[in-house]
Amino acid sequence: MSDIIQLLPDNIANQIAAGEVIQRPASAVKELLENAVDAGASRIQLIVSEAGKSLIQVIDNGKGMSHTDARLSFERHATSKIRKIDDLFQIRTMGFRGEALASIAAVAQVEMKTKKAGEELGTYLEIENSMVVKQEACACADGTNICMKNLFFNVPARRNFLKSNSVELRHIVDEFIHVAMAFPQVFFSLTSNGQQVFHLEPGTLKSRILQVLGNTYNSKLVQVKEETDYLNIYGFVGKPDTARKTRGDQYFFVNNRYIKSAYLNHAVAGAFDDLITKDSFPSYVLFIDLDAAQIDINVHPTKQEIKFEDEKIVYAFVQSAVKHALAQFSISPSLDFSLNPEIQHLDSVQMPTDDVTRTDVERSGLFQTFTQKHQAHFIERSEHKADLKNWKDFYEPRESSSGSGFQSLLQKEEAKFFDFEKKPQQFGVDLSSNPALFQLKNTFIVVPAANGFLLVHQQLAHERVLYERFADAVQGKRIPSQQVLFPSTLSLSAADAVLLTELVNDLELIGYVIAPFGNNEFIIQGVPADSISGNETHAVELLLEQIKHFNAEVKFSRREKMIRCMARQQATKAGESLSNSEMQQLVADLFNCRTVNTTPGGTATFLEFKEDNLLRMFGK
Ligand code: ADP
Ligand code: MG
Repeated sequence: MSDIIQLLPDNIANQIAAGEVIQRPASAVKELLENAVDAGASRIQLIVSEAGKSLIQVIDNGKGMSHTDARLSFERHATSKIRKIDDLFQIRTMGFRGEALASIAAVAQVEMKTKKAGEELGTYLEIENSMVVKQEACACADGTNICMKNLFFNVPARRNFLKSNSVELRHIVDEFIHVAMAFPQVFFSLTSNGQQVFHLEPGTLKSRILQVLGNTYNSKLVQVKEETDYLNIYGFVGKPDTARKTRGDQYFFVNNRYIKSAYLNHAVAGAFDDLITKDSFPSYVLFIDLDAAQIDINVHPTKQEIKFEDEKIVYAFVQSAVKHALAQFSISPSLDFSLNPEIQHLDSVQMPTDDVTRTDVERSGLFQTFTQKHQAHFIERSEHKADLKNWKDFYEPRESSSGSGFQSLLQKEEAKFFDFEKKPQQFGVDLSSNPALFQLKNTFIVVPAANGFLLVHQQLAHERVLYERFADAVQGKRIPSQQVLFPSTLSLSAADAVLLTELVNDLELIGYVIAPFGNNEFIIQGVPADSISGNETHAVELLLEQIKHFNAEVKFSRREKMIRCMARQQATKAGESLSNSEMQQLVADLFNCRTVNTTPGGTATFLEFKEDNLLRMFGK
């Protein structure tokens, strides 16, 4: 009578264990998608109904299972992916714990069809409450088609814990994105309640990112790519103007596994330090690949957290890799365009990417620590920011640069960002003497300065000028409007009409007079006084389009978005020939701005070339 301990029946034990792995529909989605990837599929379709509560189906064209394996796969601790404990430290697959299918079978009604390529018949299997109800041979396609219905049908308490369909679907989409992003070479689709939500053709990582996060990121991604013996990092970070007020598009993958890591996130944020405001978050999709023995992915049942053997190294590496990438981007005005070869061969333009620097880098201490294991204590963040106030150091000949290799490379990159604080007078430009300006490649304006010259990018400079003009306009310095001779009509969709209605007042402040005409139609009656009419319909349509894409960025008010879009779209384009007086005007306007050296998005408007540095490059 006094003995009270009993062994739990299998099905209850399974249900309890399942709770660790399958907390909600999205967890099942993650496991099933990962199984399809592990099976080597090149096409994976996910179909859900009612946010996965009534149906989750994954169809893959992977290697399929034999009759016996199909049956075994639903047993707890049944896996083809590890055999002995040592294998745990060399995991190359997404799954390895052998629990997912067992857990799913404990809390849902499962049907599976699976066939190995080359076999004539496949297997059909039906499972309920962890029990095989039916198993028979069937004709089916190569690969696996698994269907789980009525999740938690037998655990009402859990079912009641599920959130609304929209919340659960959001979780499913997140898991789907994590897997789809990590395997851009695989086709993925997601259909929810009969509607296709994603259709992702195979392609490069970049094309996958654009497919998933939206084309707004096009031309806004900076590539990150560093390789060492110890670890590799690759992927993309969003340019500073894609930073957001909410933690949105931030993705870290370690050995292709999506992970959450506040620590690594901090490393990336640190690299953006001076480029974005303190309260905004950078966007990134970064992949870290390292020896599987260096990480422990077994710390959490859903495998979303991992432990690194040398966390500090990874942190320092991630941060410097992102800094490096951003530094290259910030000098990109001179690299993007096919410049005069003489300029392109200047060290200043080539650094920090030329081979010599790279070899220097590879010989440096910091780099070496990345290529050795267990060396975290060697890494010290550079504390020399103070003497790096100018990007002068960046242009300094290599021999005289302080420190060596990677370390000094990092310092130089930091130096460039500091320059953004400089005030206009400091650039030594005197426009009152009407200096001769010179347009290069219809894109750059060469402006003589007291001790060197500035290379102004006409489009980026004009964007800054217009931005400040529009910002002043909505603050009260209204831009006068002129009536157009032939008013044009805009026919919009209902949604766009609502959007435009909200913008009409602000647009009027910058000179556009737009009157509603009923039926989602508008008439443009006036344009800014100093502009030539003709492109106003296009300008307004473009504005609506851009504001819609801006949408997720809660960072800016609608008015601010409007100003930014208009400044960008109305700016004189690179490639347009400018007269001398137009150049004079643009440069004068630029130097009258409150901020002269960057666009509102943070891109440099000009580069500064100092005479003494130029001379030094010639060995003088
Ligand atoms: P794990 O993935 O951790 O091994 P699972 O319970 O997810 O455990 O799957 C058990 C086994 O079933 C896998 O090891 C694999 O051999 C097999 N399996 C599961 N899903 C598939 C699939 N879609 N295609 C082929 N084999 C699969
Ligand atoms: Mg699995």
